[in-house]
Amino acid sequence: MLIVSEERASELMTETAGFAAVEAVFAAMSRGEAYNFPVIREAIGHADALYGFKSGFDRAGLTLGLKSGGYWPGNMARGLPNHQSTVFLFDPDTGRPTAMVGGNHLTAIRTAAASAISIQYLSRSDSRTLGMVGAGHQSHFQVRAAAAQRSFERVVAWNFHPEMLDGLEKTVRGLGLDFERLEQPELCQAADVIITITSSQDPLLMADWIKPGTHLACMGTDTRGKMEVDKHLVAAASVFTDEIAQSVTIGETQHAVGDGLLAKDAITSIGDVINGTHEGRTSPEQVTLFDGTGVGLQDLAVARAVVDIALDQGVGQRVDL
Ligand code: NAD
Repeated sequence: MLIVSEERASELMTETAGFAAVEAVFAAMSRGEAYNFPVIREAIGHADALYGFKSGFDRAGLTLGLKSGGYWPGNMARGLPNHQSTVFLFDPDTGRPTAMVGGNHLTAIRTAAASAISIQYLSRSDSRTLGMVGAGHQSHFQVRAAAAQRSFERVVAWNFHPEMLDGLEKTVRGLGLDFERLEQPELCQAADVIITITSSQDPLLMADWIKPGTHLACMGTDTRGKMEVDKHLVAAASVFTDEIAQSVTIGETQHAVGDGLLAKDAITSIGDVINGTHEGRTSPEQVTLFDGTGVGLQDLAVARAVVDIALDQGVGQRVDL
């Protein structure tokens, strides 16, 4: 078994490798060759922690395993990230463990890869202004991955905690892009592509603020009760997602579907667009919305990619188990 530490995984993994790995597994999911197992998430009654597993099997890529971890709110005070995760991979022929990989950095890479894929496949190719709603840990990864997909010239941003925008501005300017703080309605009028990556439980963007042709990647809602955009905006858009079952239960579409504003059948797997079995965007005026809920197969895909890089470079620790 190969152990790739958190630090080593952060050094080895690239956005390009993350994009390719997640794109391939989304395509395999849509072909019915890869599937996620039911998610377990439990409040353990200790340290206020939420702990769980996301797991699955990609028959096309022969990747079997799980990501285990969760949220420990007291970690920050100990100098540790609150979100903690580790990925375990197994040989699908024998069930023997093949790798244990630090999953914190990889989670951000695979989440940013998902929205970047949606931007690549669904946004207008002439998109020049990126709107960012959210300025937390994930937002930096999101903006970097998005910037690689289109010739963006500037980023317009809003955050619930405005003081956090200073850090995002630094990342954006580091990419050579202009940065401007706007209120939400103005942000929607300025942006061609909007990424939402917050822990909001209320709509931050309203349907009538969005201009025709916008692509939205809604990435923050990954739990029942969370919400980033108006459910009428979700209902009016052409909606795509990583996994439909997860989107309607814990993703951004949970509210529009739950209130009967959007039919589950009207939601398309992004893998169908990647495979060319769905046309994706059909006009420059269409509003497209990607609901990125975050599936276990994304975690396994990026962990597998980093293990392949580690094996190639002869790094990581080998242990007999
Ligand atoms: P973070 O704690 O670093 O940042 C939280 C962000 O949410 C900040 O921008 C903050 O200002 C904003 N926020 C907090 N309370 C808010 C409120 N009441 N209303 C509006 N905004 C509010 O978190 P992060 O690591 O950047 O993650 C952001 C979100 O993305 C979280 O909800 C997390 O669960 C989710 N996430 C989703 C995936 C996925 O695959 N879909 C993956 C990782 C994280």
